[in-house]
Amino acid sequence: MPGNKRPIRVAVIGGGCASMTTAFELTRPERGGQYDVTVYQMGWRLGGKGASGRGPNDRIEEHGLHLWMGFYENAFRLMRDCYDELPADPARRFTHWQHAFTPAPDVAVANRMPNGDWEFWRAHFPAGRGLPGDPLDEGSPFTVRGYLRQSALLIGELLRSAQGVEQARGVPTPETLLRYGQLAGAAALFEASDTLRQAIDAWLPQMLQGPSVVLVRLIESFAAAARRQLETIVAGDGELRRIWHVIDLILAILRGAALNGMALDARGFDAINAYDWREWLRMNGASEESLDSGFMRGIYDLAFAFEDGDVEKPRLAAGVALRGAMRMFFTYRGSLFWRMSAGMGDVVFSPLYEVLKQRGVKFEFFHRLRDVRLAPARDGETPYVDSLEFDVQAKVKGGGEYQPLVDVRGVPSWPSVPDYSQLLQGAKLAREGRAFEAHHEQRRAGTKTLRVGADFDFVVLGVSIGAIPHVASQLVERDARWAAMVRHVKSVPTQAMQVWLGESMGQLGWPHPPSNVSGFVEPFDTWADMGHLIPEENWNGRVESIAYFCSVLPDVEPPDGELTEQFVREQRDLVRENAVRFLDRDIGVLWPKAVNARGFRWPLLVAPAGIKGGSGKKRFDSQYWSANVNPSDRYVLSLPGSLEYRLSPLDLCFDNLTIAGDWTATGLDTGCIESAVMSGRLAAHALSHFPPLEDIVGYDHP
Ligand SMILES: Cc1cc2nc3c(=O)[nH]c(=O)nc-3n(C[C@H](O)[C@H](O)[C@H](O)COP(=O)(O)OP(=O)(O)OC[C@H]3O[C@@H](n4cnc5c(N)ncnc54)[C@H](O)[C@@H]3O)c2cc1C
Repeated sequence: MPGNKRPIRVAVIGGGCASMTTAFELTRPERGGQYDVTVYQMGWRLGGKGASGRGPNDRIEEHGLHLWMGFYENAFRLMRDCYDELPADPARRFTHWQHAFTPAPDVAVANRMPNGDWEFWRAHFPAGRGLPGDPLDEGSPFTVRGYLRQSALLIGELLRSAQGVEQARGVPTPETLLRYGQLAGAAALFEASDTLRQAIDAWLPQMLQGPSVVLVRLIESFAAAARRQLETIVAGDGELRRIWHVIDLILAILRGAALNGMALDARGFDAINAYDWREWLRMNGASEESLDSGFMRGIYDLAFAFEDGDVEKPRLAAGVALRGAMRMFFTYRGSLFWRMSAGMGDVVFSPLYEVLKQRGVKFEFFHRLRDVRLAPARDGETPYVDSLEFDVQAKVKGGGEYQPLVDVRGVPSWPSVPDYSQLLQGAKLAREGRAFEAHHEQRRAGTKTLRVGADFDFVVLGVSIGAIPHVASQLVERDARWAAMVRHVKSVPTQAMQVWLGESMGQLGWPHPPSNVSGFVEPFDTWADMGHLIPEENWNGRVESIAYFCSVLPDVEPPDGELTEQFVREQRDLVRENAVRFLDRDIGVLWPKAVNARGFRWPLLVAPAGIKGGSGKKRFDSQYWSANVNPSDRYVLSLPGSLEYRLSPLDLCFDNLTIAGDWTATGLDTGCIESAVMSGRLAAHALSHFPPLEDIVGYDHP
């Protein structure tokens, strides 16, 4: 320790991605032990919305499907550093971040055709240059100009691939010959697209001074010519039509960017956040068909972007969506998506826990924050947190520390239920079925009050926005910015289900490589083939495929506004009903051989040891599903007109408190792991000036 100063005691509340990142940054060896960090987490495990647990047969039970994107530079950097620092253990199987994450380059979007049938647009994204978390090239690669240029180049590539589609069709019929002839006739468009790219290069300096009328005209005339030549050619042709949809959307983006003078606007993409993404594209000429394409629906699905969980109310701030799309498609490295080699708890939160423990971070599990109390207001003084009140949900026998992990064949993992044997009166707690992670669970073994000066110096509030009114009402009352944030930054409940099946995906009738599919029918619009997890679980050859599904859940106001146990049970029952109906009615589109004339073949579902299989629909009860309705578990939305109300971890409205979570202003502002990690890094910066802001990739993104 430099000097004889005692370390600054930091109370980190909540163990999600964001606050674990803050703890990681504050306790890096380079910080020289300046911060003495204690994490307070309700229940028995870390992870929050990214938590997972091991259930019967070691099956992985997730809060919801999680995939990482190849542009998550901050999140991958965190995991790379974390794996580099893991305590040596010869029994450990995942010792390097690349054991924990594997490329998932195949994606598909589902599209409903005019005749009501579904078609799938599958794409294999080539490996991007380098790996996520590698040092970035000199200078920021993330500029509006760079994106516009890449968009124009992509139009050329898509036109070429459209021609490739025609050529690849083999022996031409008179009809395809005619169409090919028309496409070849559209060769002028290639040239025009090249001219467009050159124009963007040439006019960008002008665009930096004001909206470029010339460029807008050029884009508009190109779009009109392209629409005239291509729209009729591709009518009724799935593959070509989908390519046209993307070209059409890119043209709308280019037009909008040029018209709004986006390259010169200091707000960058945020300048259009008052609009909904579809609305903005429509204003800039995108066709209704493109706006309703599977590609567009997939974007809304991935971001759970439905206000009030109502699929009739898709709403996503245009700037956030545009930035996200540009980062996703143009800046990914290694692979467009990455999937985890086991549960998110196992590959992300166990290593973080172990490294933080090794560094001396203390963990207080079963500590549920009840209230953040401010010192009485005094003129001229920045308000500060005076005390933190917790429910102690359970006590550890002998007063020791709860040991949360179990070893699953060399993978330190979180169990799906607490290890009651470590808890005082554990058998009784187990019998009573305490729901330690549930908002409605009020039973406790005691209380604890931490006081500023005596127990902590600084607070990192890492619970999610949905929980803020419940645990920090004084902060909301005292500061108008907090009140506005709570009013405008909305969240939605989500639903998730996982099934384990006795036949392979090929046998079920899905002939393609393992893919992530979005844009499918509600109530489960997103599906991922998770068969790679079979060897991580313990099925003795009984399971041949695993599938995860998720989606929003309609937001229903509980009776009397109270999230009671009964309400939560009803929501869970609703998800079960949705899942059963979906398997019976809709799954045949994805897996035609999983159904017969009567509906889903229920015996396909593999029941784990100790859970009764049941017959018919009842067999679904042996699978896993969840209704994520607890306030902190709700997914954070980026609604049009809401972004300006987000507070940043750098906005120290209270003298000794900062915030960490994907609901804060980070420069990315989406409900995703990368945003959470960026927020955690910003919170660490607010406290320690480390990491430097320029090291937080994308923080200063346009
Ligand atoms: C179904 C679903 C699927 C998703 N899929 C993806 C995906 O594929 N890719 C992606 O990038 N992102 C995905 N996300 C988003 C991602 O999970 C979140 O962005 C991220 O986990 C948020 O981390 P956080 O730290 O901000 O919040 P949280 O994870 O919510 O962490 C909050 C923490 O606070 C704790 N807490 C709450 N209240 C209290 C209290 N009173 N006392 C003590 N502790 C408390 C919670 O238990 C939790 O540990 C998904 C989200 C959901 C819901």
